[in-house]
Amino acid sequence: MSFTGKTAVVTGGSRGLGRAICRRLAEGGANVVFSYAGNTAAAQETLDELRALDCKALAVQGNVADTDAVKALMDAAMKEFGRIDILVNNAGITRDGLLMMTKEEDFDAVIDTNLKGTFLCMKAVSRVMLRQKYGRIVNLSSVVGVHGNAGQVNYAASKAGVIGMTKSLAKELAAKGVTVNAVAPGFITTDMTAALPESAKTALLATIPQARLGAPEDVACAVAFLASDEAAYITGQVLGVDGGMGM
Ligand code: NDP
Repeated sequence: MSFTGKTAVVTGGSRGLGRAICRRLAEGGANVVFSYAGNTAAAQETLDELRALDCKALAVQGNVADTDAVKALMDAAMKEFGRIDILVNNAGITRDGLLMMTKEEDFDAVIDTNLKGTFLCMKAVSRVMLRQKYGRIVNLSSVVGVHGNAGQVNYAASKAGVIGMTKSLAKELAAKGVTVNAVAPGFITTDMTAALPESAKTALLATIPQARLGAPEDVACAVAFLASDEAAYITGQVLGVDGGMGM
C-alpha cells in the first residue's frame, strides 16, 4: 500500500495506536499531521520516529472536542500540505466504572472526546474531501461498541455512536469518492489497557480465541488498508481487529 503524495491527519498520535498508525502511514510515504491532548514529550517521540522515516510530519496540540482546536488542526494540515486525503479519528479516553458509580462528568468526558471529537473532525474534513473528490476516513470504534462491556457504559455508548456515525456519513459521501469505515479493536496493549487491573486482564484474555493481546501494529495495518486506494470499494464497514474476540 502506497501513500506517496497523500496527507493524513491522525488524532491522538502521540501514543499507543495513534503512534503506530502514524508510523504505518509514514512507512507508506504519507505526510502525517497528528494531534495530541497535552503529552508533549510523547508527541515529540512520535515526531522523531516519523522524521527518522523521512516523513514530513507535524504535531498539533489540541482537544478534539473543541471546535476551534479542530479547525486549527485541519488548517495546519492544509497550510502545510494543501490537502487532506486521510483522516483517522483515533483520539479516545476511558472513564470506567459500573453505571451506578459513574459520575455525570465521566459520562460527558468520554462522549465529548470519543464521539463529539470524531463528529467535529469528520465535519471539518468533509468539505475538503468533497472538493478533492477523494477521501478516506477511518474511525476507531471498539469491540465494546459492538458487544457492550460491564463497567463501560459511557465508553460503549461512545463507540457504538461512532459506528452509527460511520455508516451514516458513508452513505452521505459514498458517491463522492470518499469512504468512511471503522475498525473495532479488541484488547490491544497500550497505556489505555495498562491501566486495567490484572484480574480484568486475565478475564479478558480468556475471551480471546487467539489467546494473546493485540499489538498496536495489528490495528495500524487494518487502518492503513482501509485508508488505502486498494480499499476504494469498501465503505460503511466495521472491521474487527480482535483476535476473534467479537465472533
Ligand atoms: P492511549 O490512551 O494510549 O492514547 C490516547 C491518545 O489520544 C493519546 O495520543 C492522547 O494524547 C490522545 N487524546 C486523548 N484525549 C484527547 C483529546 N481530547 N484531544 C486530542 N487527543 C486526545 O489510547 P489507545 O492508543 O489505547 O487508544 C486509541 C484509540 O483506540 C481510542 O479511541 C480507543 O478508544 C481505541 N481503542 C483502543 C483499544 C485498546 O485496547 N487499546 C481497544 C479498542 C479501541 P496525549 O498523549 O497528549 O494524552
